[in-house]
Amino acid sequence: MPTALIVGGGLGGLAAAIGLRREGWTTVILESAHQINEVGAGIQLPANSGRILVKWGLREKIEKVACRPVTTRYWRYDNAAPLSKWLYPPEELTGAPYWNIHRGDYQKLLLAEALSPVLSSPVPNPGPPLTTFTNTTVSYVDCETASVKTADGRSFSGDVLIGADGVRSVVKVAVTGEPDHAKPSGDQAFRFLIPVEKVKEHRELDFVLDRAVNNHLGPDAHIVHYPVHGYRIINVICVSRDTGLTQESWNQQGSREEVLKAFDGWSPEILKLLSLPDKYLKWQLIKREELPTWVRGKTALLGDACHAMVPYLAQGAAQAVEDGAALARALGSGLPVDVALRAYENVRKPRTTAVMSGADDARTSYHMHDGVPQMKRDNAFKKGWGKGSISPHWAYDAEGEMNKHLNELISRDGTPENAPRPHARI
Ligand SMILES: Cc1cc2nc3c(=O)[nH]c(=O)nc-3n(C[C@H](O)[C@H](O)[C@H](O)COP(=O)(O)OP(=O)(O)OC[C@H]3O[C@@H](n4cnc5c(N)ncnc54)[C@H](O)[C@@H]3O)c2cc1C
Repeated sequence: MPTALIVGGGLGGLAAAIGLRREGWTTVILESAHQINEVGAGIQLPANSGRILVKWGLREKIEKVACRPVTTRYWRYDNAAPLSKWLYPPEELTGAPYWNIHRGDYQKLLLAEALSPVLSSPVPNPGPPLTTFTNTTVSYVDCETASVKTADGRSFSGDVLIGADGVRSVVKVAVTGEPDHAKPSGDQAFRFLIPVEKVKEHRELDFVLDRAVNNHLGPDAHIVHYPVHGYRIINVICVSRDTGLTQESWNQQGSREEVLKAFDGWSPEILKLLSLPDKYLKWQLIKREELPTWVRGKTALLGDACHAMVPYLAQGAAQAVEDGAALARALGSGLPVDVALRAYENVRKPRTTAVMSGADDARTSYHMHDGVPQMKRDNAFKKGWGKGSISPHWAYDAEGEMNKHLNELISRDGTPENAPRPHARI
């Protein structure tokens, strides 16, 4: 059984591990943290990643901990006037519901699936349960031989090496041969969780409890909030101009004063919401430009390692999950590893570049100062009031697109004589 060595046990690395197990691979994750865990924050799980998880048999497990919003709503920043209210599309159009989930719940669910002796949606001849090495920081990468060395002197190798090591990826540096180019985006984010019980003490915040993703738009800033963790917690993300106080870290503490200062002039309801938590986390938001390549030798990149983006389309983790599923499909095709990795790059790089650029456009639209373009935006939002909205990104079928490309390759070039037959699912 071929072995995939995966650097990084974030959402992307775990998705790749599950996908590859389903294709009959042995999977090993090397993770620098002392345990595979996620920070205390919520995340939107759009249908394009949801459809992959549904196919993997995880629907029931997700439904137990996630929330399913009915609408996405837009509000004006200074007087909380509603700008629009769109309905999420029916599942038949996107292949899965739209969910919101606590990152910890998401991570646990994927890890449990990767480690489980039995897959939730069984396939013939799956790979064995995932092996994980925590406290294991990769410091040297040989892309041609799919081997790595760790900071404490251990060596690992596999038949393929996957760099799922996030925005400061060491594997990315080895693949591109260039120093890291992820850059501050100019924005920062404060994130916090508020127990629903605490929100219920304030009648003016009743709207926060609805089954909705709420977006409050203001000059150079916006706020997003929605329920997670079985409707017991409200997750809030506040984006504003980077004041130079933040660094790129998932665990930097912010303060109530900082948040209130950044949102001075916003409506009393919003300021009340922002004043409720006891603990605030803050991030510097980082982004990458499109990389020249994601692949070298027997090594490929996925997730934030190759396409870190601003989070304004809620697609970063969703793209990492799509990458994991598509990469597994390519490697499960029976094509030689180098051909499979190129096929993966050919399909995934244009897709994620388009999503990155959509996220930049969303920033321009969300952060408008008051004026004619902002009035035009608000009028456009109002026209959609009460209608179903479908982002082109949500209906994307990552495994289907990968299969299409593999089929084209195989019918054009055939498979090498000594290569195993392509997997029956193509
Ligand atoms: C404020 C904010 C809000 C967001 N909201 C959403 C949202 O609603 N929906 C969505 O889809 N996305 C969202 N995202 C994006 C999403 O969080 C990321 O795109 C996603 O977590 C990336 O996953 P990953 O597995 O690629 O990387 P990571 O989650 O960064 O995982 C990388 C892993 O690699 C490990 N690692 C790093 N270096 C090494 C090394 N040298 N050796 C071993 N291990 C290593 C790290 O410890 C980490 O566990 C948001 C991001 C931000 C900042």
